Amino acid sequence: GQDNLRYKRILLKLSGEALLGDTPFGISPEVMDEIAREIAEVYRLGVEIGIVIGGGNIFRGVAGASKGMDRASADYMGMLATVINSLALQDALERQGVTTRVQSAIEMREVAEPYIRRRAIRHLEKNRVVIFAAGTGNPFFTTDTAAALRALEIGAEALLKATKVDGVYERDPLQDPRARKFDHLRYQEVLERGLKVMDATAISLAMENRLPIVVFNLRQPQNIKRAVLGEPVGTTVSN
Ligand code: UDP
Repeated sequence: GQDNLRYKRILLKLSGEALLGDTPFGISPEVMDEIAREIAEVYRLGVEIGIVIGGGNIFRGVAGASKGMDRASADYMGMLATVINSLALQDALERQGVTTRVQSAIEMREVAEPYIRRRAIRHLEKNRVVIFAAGTGNPFFTTDTAAALRALEIGAEALLKATKVDGVYERDPLQDPRARKFDHLRYQEVLERGLKVMDATAISLAMENRLPIVVFNLRQPQNIKRAVLGEPVGTTVSN
């Protein structure tokens, strides 16, 4: 049963970078399949799952703008990159026997449903994983903010942020191996200390609405499942 679930409905945020694996650009099929297997396992526990996936493995708005592009145009390219990742994830999940829908914040009727909140919730109730593509649909935002926004819209009990490291550290653990990891943080601490959990817009949105954020390492097998079961994994950000 579902009695042992800490969270019955979650929003999972995956960065585009998570899809790279050993490839310098784009999507590693092996990594994608691995992620899909992990999600499928959690799906079979009866958890209702919404997913926001980034686009950093393909294109980032700031990168384009730093080379002289108009920021808004570059951001729209970034949002389209998230659509590519969303379709790849949909394909990988369906090969694992998971029923899915992609809803895009930028209309693209031939490849995805438009984002309609009530319809997304209905899909979740019918045991379909909903992948939210194209971020918020607005330039100058990030997929972290899209993840916080969609989590609130669908009434998710937690935002699960999958990363490359084991949680939130006082300093970047890839730079300083002695940096300590936090088990728990308050939203305010994240903002004041400028800790790189998610961008400040996403943290503020979560804080104002008391949405817990669980930050954990995606490369550690079973971590999504452990987070959903309420086992101590990574760092929890709440009040
Ligand atoms: N983006 C945007 N608005 C949004 C979400 C994303 O403009 O609501 C653009 C932005 O340019 C960003 C890119 O899409 O750089 C890819 O998203 P992000 O960098 O958040 O992906 P991640 O770092 O998670 O892979």
